[in-house]
Amino acid sequence: MAKMQNVRGTYDLYGAAKRRAKKVVDIASKTVETYGFEEIETPIFEFTEVFARNLGDTSDIVTKEMYTFLDKGGESLTLRPEGTAGVVRSFISQGMKQNLPVKLYYAGPMFRYERPQKGRQRQFTQFGVEMFGVPSAQADVEMIAMAYTFLQKLGLDDTVTVEINSLGDKESRDAYRSVLVAYLKQHINGLSDESKERLDKNPLRILDSKEECDREIVENAPLYTDSLNETSKQFFAQVLRGLDVLKIPYRINHRLVRGLDYYSHTVFELTTDKLGAQGTVLAGGRYDGLVEEMGGGDIAGIGWACGVERLSMLLDSDVPLKRPVAVIELGDEAHDTALKTAYELRTKGFKVECAYSGNIKKRMEKAAKANAYKAVILGSDEISQGVATVKNLDDGTQKQVPLAHLAEELS
Ligand code: ATP
Ligand code: MG
Repeated sequence: MAKMQNVRGTYDLYGAAKRRAKKVVDIASKTVETYGFEEIETPIFEFTEVFARNLGDTSDIVTKEMYTFLDKGGESLTLRPEGTAGVVRSFISQGMKQNLPVKLYYAGPMFRYERPQKGRQRQFTQFGVEMFGVPSAQADVEMIAMAYTFLQKLGLDDTVTVEINSLGDKESRDAYRSVLVAYLKQHINGLSDESKERLDKNPLRILDSKEECDREIVENAPLYTDSLNETSKQFFAQVLRGLDVLKIPYRINHRLVRGLDYYSHTVFELTTDKLGAQGTVLAGGRYDGLVEEMGGGDIAGIGWACGVERLSMLLDSDVPLKRPVAVIELGDEAHDTALKTAYELRTKGFKVECAYSGNIKKRMEKAAKANAYKAVILGSDEISQGVATVKNLDDGTQKQVPLAHLAEELS
């Protein structure tokens, strides 16, 4: 017999937790729509190649975390570990570059084979945005402002810090890479095994290693800013100036590099100290070389994504359910009228609960339990007069209302 339990690292989302997650996505969607973003839905799986090429084959995601399988036709497919790759693939395959800039957002499940712990799941939800075709720093400012406004609307702006850094253009990155490798080679014996391996393939990743021994070495590593060329310095200064104009508080974090290979210039994270080691709730950056790398031409790109579950965990108040009207029938002769009344009220947009069974006492108890604000009581007397008794369940008052005027009375 099949095991009746969740796969490790996956969760059923319902009740208050689902309402909070939905609120996060609703507020995010509304916020980014004010910036002209439109929703896109791409498939949950893609050819493995799409992720392997997009994310760089030395990233943690590609080397360790992907759910990859062969389908019955022998194709290697992967459940999406993040949203950008699929959106970039779609941008290219649908020929969207005819109409730049293109501003897209998505929300949906992502899959990563990670060690499950608080804030780290194997299936989780991301909300993300991507903007194509704007190489100027205004895009970076707007993307960060948009993220900040979103968290402000969730009431989390006091809880969250905007951290920002610049990786510069390719010339600056190459320059920093050699300075960093030279430094790390002097301390190679102190590095963790994983970082020793990364030294050749992806030394930048060592900067955000969580291993204690690496952190001590990284503490004194050369600073990225010192390797930025003039163009990159100016670009970063423009981004920071824009944030200053908008009075968005930020902190420059010289160790922020992000895990993926494709970032250039601005990288940023919104972090909190309330979720332990899983403190990053939103992360993003500019990826000017990515579309070209994927074969779509020289088109600038920038985006961010947030973890919906991590953000939901920070919301302390419950999201209240809409209060219903309770339709209460007394006796069999009231049944058809009650059925019809509930149907008509629902058609008009009212949320209506019926108790389905029981005497008046039971039905009134159920109405209270459903947090109904009013009860529409239908007995044989009411029906013969074409009225209902409408009881206000908050103050206990009641009155007779003609059935034809019920909707007005309840609104
Ligand atoms: P981390 O450093 O925590 O592993 P990451 O750099 O892998 O994060 P991104 O790929 O940038 O994360 O994804 C963006 C956001 O998605 C993260 O900031 C986080 O909020 C969320 N996220 C990432 N991985 C998970 C996961 N396994 N479970 C829940 N949320 C996640
Ligand atoms: Mg990760």
